[in-house]
Amino acid sequence: MCISHRGKAFKDLYKSVSVNLRKLLNIPDTHHIFFTASSLESMERVIENTVAKKSFHIVTGAFGKRFHKTALELGKKAEKIAYPAGEGWNSDKIKVPKGTELIAITQNDTSTGVSLPMEEIYALGKKYPDAMIAIDVVSSAPYTLVDYERIDMAFFSVQKGFGLPAGLGLLIVSEKAVKKARALQKKGLDIGSYHNFVTTAEKEMDFQTTETPNVFTIYLFNKILEDFLKIGIDQIRQDTIEKAHMIYNFFEKHQTYEPFVKDARYRSLTSLVIDVKEETEQIAKRLAQRGLILGKGYGDYKAEHIRLANFPSQTKKDVKKLLSLLSS
Ligand SMILES: *Cc1c(COP(=O)(O)O)cnc(C)c1O
Repeated sequence: MCISHRGKAFKDLYKSVSVNLRKLLNIPDTHHIFFTASSLESMERVIENTVAKKSFHIVTGAFGKRFHKTALELGKKAEKIAYPAGEGWNSDKIKVPKGTELIAITQNDTSTGVSLPMEEIYALGKKYPDAMIAIDVVSSAPYTLVDYERIDMAFFSVQKGFGLPAGLGLLIVSEKAVKKARALQKKGLDIGSYHNFVTTAEKEMDFQTTETPNVFTIYLFNKILEDFLKIGIDQIRQDTIEKAHMIYNFFEKHQTYEPFVKDARYRSLTSLVIDVKEETEQIAKRLAQRGLILGKGYGDYKAEHIRLANFPSQTKKDVKKLLSLLSS
């Protein structure tokens, strides 16, 4: 269950994770792969290491709001544009303030089920080439295809799409972002200590970590990566799409329930939010009797919505079982 994090076995493990994750998600050598404790930690590291003064946040739910709050708590001049729950955005409509160093985007907000097409995010990056782009793909990885030539930072945790116990985050960081951290440090700014980009990148060169990391979960993560590579990312994506369509089709035809996100372009295929007209509790009880644990609505929507994960670990058979229970 444990190996020395300073020994050769650990270095080989980190190297293997790096090779496998790069292969699965098509991450180029221009980007570093760091381990964090979770994605909320990754939000903090991103802000500390790439923002001297100004960040800009596009909020489509509770997780975008949290990213913004992190920047404020770190003393940054963080501005935001917030969309009503269930709505997405178009890059044409967004004006990023002058002097913005980082644009923070929740690609898939698990609280509302709003998912942003990567094309809109790339278009925004093209419009504002001086700002770096960080995306939260916590509940859409590994499904979402990311072109890392156009994205500076992306992060996720292993307890969502990778189906593992919580306690490990992955943070993908461009060399450009590490350079920025180095420049901020030179200016005497606080870029943090524990996982700042400068020392974390130095350690990564030797496949080492600053701290004693969650070695066991890193080991499990590598096993999942091997499995996913065997299945193939194309197959995983196709299965995800098919299962999501089964669920959305069911709810579009349903007499009372309906998908919460009205515009299908912004509907998440990995974390689906359904408006069940305040019948959440009733449905949860019924499903629990049959061994299914239901995700309830987020925050204010606790009693009104249900939230359905559609990750690789959920099979078509699981989806069929869920839908047949819901129709009976
Ligand atoms: C779960 C989640 C997070 C937080 O991840 P932790 O591992 O709990 O830190 C952040 N963003 C999104 C979109 C999430 O779904």
